[in-house]
Amino acid sequence: MPELPEAETLVRGLRPHLEGRALTGVEVHHADVLRMPADAFRERIAGRRIRAVRRRAKNIVLDLDTGVVVVNLGMTGWLAPLGEGSALAESVTHPALTFGIEPSNRGAPTDTRRLVFDDIRRFGCVEALSDEEWSARSAQIGPEPLEPEFTAERLWADLRSSRSPVRNWLLDQRRVAGVGNIYASEACWSARVHPGRPCRDITWREARDLHRGMVDVLRAAVDAGGTTIRNYRNVHGERGSFVHRLRVYGREGDPCVDCGVPIERIVLSNRSAFFCPSCQR
Ligand SMILES: [Zn+2]
Repeated sequence: MPELPEAETLVRGLRPHLEGRALTGVEVHHADVLRMPADAFRERIAGRRIRAVRRRAKNIVLDLDTGVVVVNLGMTGWLAPLGEGSALAESVTHPALTFGIEPSNRGAPTDTRRLVFDDIRRFGCVEALSDEEWSARSAQIGPEPLEPEFTAERLWADLRSSRSPVRNWLLDQRRVAGVGNIYASEACWSARVHPGRPCRDITWREARDLHRGMVDVLRAAVDAGGTTIRNYRNVHGERGSFVHRLRVYGREGDPCVDCGVPIERIVLSNRSAFFCPSCQR
C-alpha cells in the first residue's frame, strides 16, 4: 500500500505536468471512488486552476485557486498524466476518473491533457473539499516525519502517553503522518526496538534511535522512488526500487542482514509486523 515515500514520489513527478494548469472537467467512470455525488464533485472542480501539488501524510493534494482535491491512493491507486498518444496510456487498466487538463502549449503532442486516477481495487478515494474542510481534516493528522516539527523530544513525549505496541502507534495517522506497515517495520528494526513494545516503556535513547530510523528510512525510500510490493508506479509507470533495500518487511525466514538470525513475522491488530528476534528483543 502506498505510504509517504510513494505519495511523495508521485507528487514530485506530477508537479511539472499540473502546476499552473486548469481542470477543464472530469469524466467519472466509477463514482464509488468519490465521497460525494459526481455532479457535486464536477461543480466543485470545474475550471479551477491547480496552484500547487503537494503531499500530506499519504494523500496527494491539488491546491486549487479555491478549495483542494485530495487523493488517497488506498491500496492500488495511481495518478497518470497523459498527453495525446502517450505510451503511458497502455498502463492505465482500471480508470476510475479522468480529469481534463488545460493545454499549456498549444500543438505540442506530448503536452499533458488528461490526469487519470487509476485504481484496480478501488480502496482509494478522491474528494473535493473547501479550504476550511481541508484545514480541519489536516489538523487531525499528526506531524510530518520529514519536517522540522517532528523531533525526537516530541516523539518520546507522545509515545509516553500510550500503552499501544509501538508498531500500532506508528501506523496511527493521528500520531505521525504517512507511515504505514512497510516503513514502521523498517524503522523499528533500524532502532533495534521490538514492534510489540508498549510505547510508554520506550526509553529516551530508543525514542531517539526510532526518530533517526524513521527519518533515515523515509528519506532513503523517497530517494529510491518508493517501494513497489504489488503495483505501485511513478508518473512514468516505473516501479520504486527501495524494495531491494528492505531489511525486515516481507522477509520472514530470510537472514537478518546484521546478525544472520531468521526474520520473524507477528500479527498485531490484524496487520503483520516483521522483526529480527535477536536485534529487536
Ligand atoms: Zn538481527
